[in-house]
Amino acid sequence: MSIIDCHVHLNCYPGVGHNRSVERVKKLLEVMNKNGINYSLILSSYKSDAYRPSAAEIIEITKKYENNLGVVAGFTIDNHGEEDLNNYKKWLKDGVIKGIKLYCGYEHYYPYDKGYQRVYDMCVEYDAPVMIHTGDTFSNTAKIRFSHPLTVDDIAVDNPDLKIVMCHLGNPWMVDCQEVIYKNKNVYADISGLFIGDFTQSVKSYYVNKIKELLSYIGDPHRILYGTDWPISDIESYIKFVQSLNLDQRESDLLMFGNAKKIFRL
Ligand SMILES: [Zn+2]
Repeated sequence: MSIIDCHVHLNCYPGVGHNRSVERVKKLLEVMNKNGINYSLILSSYKSDAYRPSAAEIIEITKKYENNLGVVAGFTIDNHGEEDLNNYKKWLKDGVIKGIKLYCGYEHYYPYDKGYQRVYDMCVEYDAPVMIHTGDTFSNTAKIRFSHPLTVDDIAVDNPDLKIVMCHLGNPWMVDCQEVIYKNKNVYADISGLFIGDFTQSVKSYYVNKIKELLSYIGDPHRILYGTDWPISDIESYIKFVQSLNLDQRESDLLMFGNAKKIFRL
């Protein structure tokens, strides 16, 4: 596998083209093909509506592309219930989904809220990671104290067998994120969603420096995963961005596919 993007969405925002999920998938495959991406994990949202397909819908739509697309199911305390949890458990067991994503911040609960414990337990049972939104949000009703990366330390300590992927490196609290990763061997992070669309030279150098600093502090290239947050972020600019990190071949292979392959058992 050459590149695995561990973080994309099928959400359509009003005013954005390709506003049907099936067309969205075709668009995604087209962009992946153009940029040498072999596999993407599609994360279902914190709720399902006309703009946000549910995990079940995404599974249905992507079934015929299983060699190139995988699904991570979104879970929230407020919008998901018993039936969803039962489905998720079955899908984890059968490998139909590769992990579960939480939307702390978008919903107003800390990662250590007991309402999430069943998700952690089933992820441990089936050796699948939980992905947790950390840092800035794409919504003005979100409350960011719930998405601060330091709050992940509690569940990392209390669930030592749980693999945790912090999304977006806790941006802008990357120093907190790097300490949580460094301290807890079961914590990883993806580099998705650092900027919307394309990005300017100054923004690029800002994040290049931050990521280099984070990698040196952690001192372990096995902990960071490539992801974009497409369609919010642009896939082509993300590839260019990663190239400007000037990683050696081994580090680059781990970031671009090796770590994701292992963590999500792809
Ligand atoms: Zn995302």
